[in-house]
Amino acid sequence: MDKILKKNTLVVLLVLTAIFTGKVQAQVLPNLGQTDKWMTGAIAAMERQDFVTANNIFRNLIDSGLPLPEEMPYFFAETLYHLDQFDNSANFLNKYLELTGFTGENYDGAKELKEKLSEPLKSIQMCQLCDRRGYRYKACFTCDGNKEIEQDCDYCKAKGVVGCSRCGGTGMITKKNIFNIVEYFECERCAANGRLTCPVCQGTKKEVSACRTCGGSGRLASDAICDHTEEVHDHDVVPEN
Ligand SMILES: [Zn+2]
Ligand SMILES: [Zn+2]
Ligand SMILES: [Zn+2]
Ligand SMILES: [Zn+2]
Repeated sequence: MDKILKKNTLVVLLVLTAIFTGKVQAQVLPNLGQTDKWMTGAIAAMERQDFVTANNIFRNLIDSGLPLPEEMPYFFAETLYHLDQFDNSANFLNKYLELTGFTGENYDGAKELKEKLSEPLKSIQMCQLCDRRGYRYKACFTCDGNKEIEQDCDYCKAKGVVGCSRCGGTGMITKKNIFNIVEYFECERCAANGRLTCPVCQGTKKEVSACRTCGGSGRLASDAICDHTEEVHDHDVVPEN
């Protein structure tokens, strides 16, 4: 199996490193290239509580497309937890547990983190002010939170009129009299115009309908992490001119 092969390779490398350098560091893997440089850097940043830097390094690692080290999702989940990105943290933690099962080097830490996450995840679920990932809602910029917005009438394609269905838009109606002769009458419905005022927009060419930007909800998730309290935050206030 691939995994066993990888493990064996790692053991050989550790032994070789031990021979050449005379020591094996606990958490730091032998230098296998850029991935390990990033991992070492990120873990060092975590140790000095600099989770913003750790986050940036982990994201570089993910963006690089290089294969991710087995323990990486755990460390990333810890970092995200400290940045209050609880939903994201849970995603990586679950991935870690799914991939490593009971055999992960950080299994105990992962179990502990899962425990720590349960409370904040519950708060997100119960909060009405943020989306299910914990990001605070803000008013939709298209409809200004009104859910509906005035736009071109779809029914008449903003013409304000529609063809009369009774006369087929001709303004005339034909009937056969008792002598089987076709007689023409003016269409009463459209007063022989062949057209009627649009019944949806009443001729205004505009209609008020659900905002397409927010799907009619009036709100969009922002990139601000919600603290689940009603109080107005600085970033929620629109400055007046
Ligand atoms: Zn909207
Ligand atoms: Zn008509
Ligand atoms: Zn219309
Ligand atoms: Zn909230």
